[in-house]
Amino acid sequence: MFLAFIDAASAMIPPEVELARGGLARGGDPLGLGPRVRSAWAEGLDLPSRGELLFYAGDFYPVMGYAELLLRLTRSPLSTRRLASLGGALMKLGLLPAALRIAGRGANSRYQASLRKAVNTLIRLGVRPAILREEEPSFGAVLHTYGLLDEFSEHARGVWERLREAGVRTIVTPDPVAALFFRKHYPEFVDGWDVDAVTWVELVAERVASEGVRLGPVSRWAMRVTYHDPCVQSRMMGVVEQPRFLISEIPGVDLVEPTRRGVNTGCSGDGGLELVQPEVARRLALARGEELKNTGAKLALTSCPACLLTLRSSGVEMFFGDLIDMVHDALLSAKRGEPREVAWAGARRPLRLTKPRGLSVEGLTSTLAELASRCVRCGFCNPTCSTAQVLDGLESRSARGRVTLIRAMVEGRDLRPGEVLDRLYTCVLCGACEMACPAGLPVPDMIIYGRALAIKLGLVKREELGVDGGDRR
Ligand code: SF4
Ligand code: SF4
Repeated sequence: MFLAFIDAASAMIPPEVELARGGLARGGDPLGLGPRVRSAWAEGLDLPSRGELLFYAGDFYPVMGYAELLLRLTRSPLSTRRLASLGGALMKLGLLPAALRIAGRGANSRYQASLRKAVNTLIRLGVRPAILREEEPSFGAVLHTYGLLDEFSEHARGVWERLREAGVRTIVTPDPVAALFFRKHYPEFVDGWDVDAVTWVELVAERVASEGVRLGPVSRWAMRVTYHDPCVQSRMMGVVEQPRFLISEIPGVDLVEPTRRGVNTGCSGDGGLELVQPEVARRLALARGEELKNTGAKLALTSCPACLLTLRSSGVEMFFGDLIDMVHDALLSAKRGEPREVAWAGARRPLRLTKPRGLSVEGLTSTLAELASRCVRCGFCNPTCSTAQVLDGLESRSARGRVTLIRAMVEGRDLRPGEVLDRLYTCVLCGACEMACPAGLPVPDMIIYGRALAIKLGLVKREELGVDGGDRR
């Protein structure tokens, strides 16, 4: 989730934010590298360009190596801001994507390789998906996340048209954020949306079981490993048992669990947060990385490109790997056995939709007023809140503090300039608060609708978000 995390310590928009946002607006990916770079991972793959099942790489995986490079640069002895200012200047001159393309190609190759392995794993399991290569549309996460909901709604309808032209009925993706968007946010915003989405982990686990595949040993993976649950995949979509099934199927691999696991997973700091609130992001990533290391495992696996990026950059001395690579390697020496029927808890459960009552000021106000009125201010959400946790329980950056702010906004109370930007745009949308809320409030959805309302009321200026115009393919 490349979010617009605004520097809470400053009402100014920091150059790091402008850099990330400019890229998102220009190229549909966080760094503005364009469709040719984003589709480079698929070169040489002999797969159709239309079909009922689509392999969707998503906005982040194909460019994560470039983001990793940027992250390494920000950790250099030069200050983050000076580097970001330099990057911003290059972006204005249109030179940043070219500079990144040259410097980051090597770093990106491992993520490209993981995407190819993800596809090859499916093929070995008898699934031959279509891929859209340069025609693959962005799923529009940044528009939704910023609260630019009119644009997101229009963009999502365009994506639907493109998928229909390609005959797509189901999407399989290794990016859990993309899967969540197609399963939850597209049905919220596109009437009649009829495309299903499944994560790569879900489909592969199901095929391994139903095809009676016995994964083989892989010497380089024969070790004690642990698993980091991405919040979007576990907490929001209930995909908890499938990755563990795949890991435990590999002979010689010993799975040990971290303290926070499954739906109670811990935030790993998120790539977008790293760019704009590096200190908070590092504290989150370090805490999570240490927790994974304390399991005694040598390797921590995960299933999300953004989590991988932040954990690999956490400074914790441990190997962080992609589950895709491990399963792919184990499949190379697999044998056939008897098909198995496996029932995973929470598998394919319907996701709770929070459809707004329209995107006008009245529609958003009415939606938020109803939701906020159900908050009893119990504060059960606060101890779970990722940002409050690393900021010593600061109420203004807590879940309850944000719901209180939303209530004040819909009631028309006076707010300080910059207050909405500071507080709502620092939420990482991890959903931990939603799990803890006895009233069942969909706090992350409320945050998004709160952002949208704030923009429409002029409490957050569109130019402050810097995402107008540009190619959002
Ligand atoms: S989603 Fe909830 S728990 Fe997570 S950072 Fe936002 S307010 Fe806090
Ligand atoms: S847990 Fe729910 S009801 Fe309680 S303060 Fe948080 S949002 Fe409000």
